[in-house]
Amino acid sequence: MRKISVFGATGSVGESTFDLLMRQGGPEAFRTVALTGGRNAKRLAEQALALRAEIAVIADEAALPQLREALAGSGIVAAGGSAALAEAADRPADWVMSSIVGAAGLVPSLAALRHGGTLALANKESLVTAGPLLMQTARNHGARILPVDSEHSAAFQSLRGEKIETVETVTITASGGAFRDWPVERLATATVAEASVHPNWDMGQRITIDSASMFNKALEIIETREFFGIAPERIEVLVHPESLVHALVAFRDGCMIGHLGAPDMRHAIGYALNWPERAHLPVARLNLAEIGRLTFASPDPARYPALRIAREVMAAGGLTGAVFNAAKEAALDAFIAGHIRFTDMAPVVEETLARMMAMEGIGKPATSLDIVLQTDRAARRVANETMTEMCKV
Ligand code: NAD
Ligand code: MG
Repeated sequence: MRKISVFGATGSVGESTFDLLMRQGGPEAFRTVALTGGRNAKRLAEQALALRAEIAVIADEAALPQLREALAGSGIVAAGGSAALAEAADRPADWVMSSIVGAAGLVPSLAALRHGGTLALANKESLVTAGPLLMQTARNHGARILPVDSEHSAAFQSLRGEKIETVETVTITASGGAFRDWPVERLATATVAEASVHPNWDMGQRITIDSASMFNKALEIIETREFFGIAPERIEVLVHPESLVHALVAFRDGCMIGHLGAPDMRHAIGYALNWPERAHLPVARLNLAEIGRLTFASPDPARYPALRIAREVMAAGGLTGAVFNAAKEAALDAFIAGHIRFTDMAPVVEETLARMMAMEGIGKPATSLDIVLQTDRAARRVANETMTEMCKV
């Protein structure tokens, strides 16, 4: 029986993963090693009982008593806190879903690769903060990374059987997010509630707001570079409001292979779960005659400054990806807390990058997890100082 673990099981991707695991036989088909959640002990316990997990870990230690109580007598180990999370990640599994949001997902991603199995990678921050380290760890241990981000899964599927050196461009699509049709001048007034609504996808709040600002797409450009190893100038972004075409790969013979599917993460999760086979998936089928037309446009640089910043980050290389992600996370925290405006996020990230670039070693590639985590902490500090000065919070 395949041994599996899910990190971030109670989130949006985590719930879709749980849904597929249950539909594909649950505890009869999978031996669940670890399930983890952030705060929702009640839901984590339900999932752990349904999949008969060995261990359930809640990141927030305050929720551990509730988890213990819910799992009492079940034989499932209940644990809490970041050390327990790291310990769970050290337990070998054949298939690991990394779906924690943010840089906190890097530890389980790296640990999973050290076991030489398959890492189903939803946590794009792992590749943005430590891409070369992640890919090298996979190579060293004979592990496989299967992308779960919908665009990257789509490009991966379009590239099946193709040689990467015949690729001219990889295009990832973007819905344009909540403010696609807003006048640019109005963006400064955007509220957290307005930014937390996605036109097509049902996702966690952070990635939904990142879709409105296109910081999500900015992370995904870097993710594309790190995962496929293609040059930044070969990576393109197209605004595609229908969110049905997820990626397009253009080859040197002038043809393009694209990937279409309903905006449902169970497509990409199910592909990674069943690879190299294709299993029946409970997702909506596309009726293209009914849909009628698909539209595409170039992203407006004034509306989405994050895309330009991502290109600067790739040009700088080294630890800049870790700085970029941490600054973005700090700015997003501040926006959600009501301390800065929606349109302050990009300038905060840019200023943090500028200040951090002046520090020694930032342009050098990450050689260890510790260096990435140190850089992450330093960048959050600088981002917070920047916000205090810029925004007078
Ligand atoms: P989410 O917020 O819905 O869920 C995140 C999960 O991580 C939850 O289980 C949460 O409790 C846990 N968590 C949060 N902070 C944590 C911490 N510090 N330590 C340990 N656990 C923590 O997020 P999501 O939308 O499911 O996204 C998860 C990841 O997948 C992100 O990296 C996101 O970019 C990526 N992704 C998501 C989607 C989507 O459709 N939601 C699509 C593509 C990629
Ligand atoms: Mg995506």
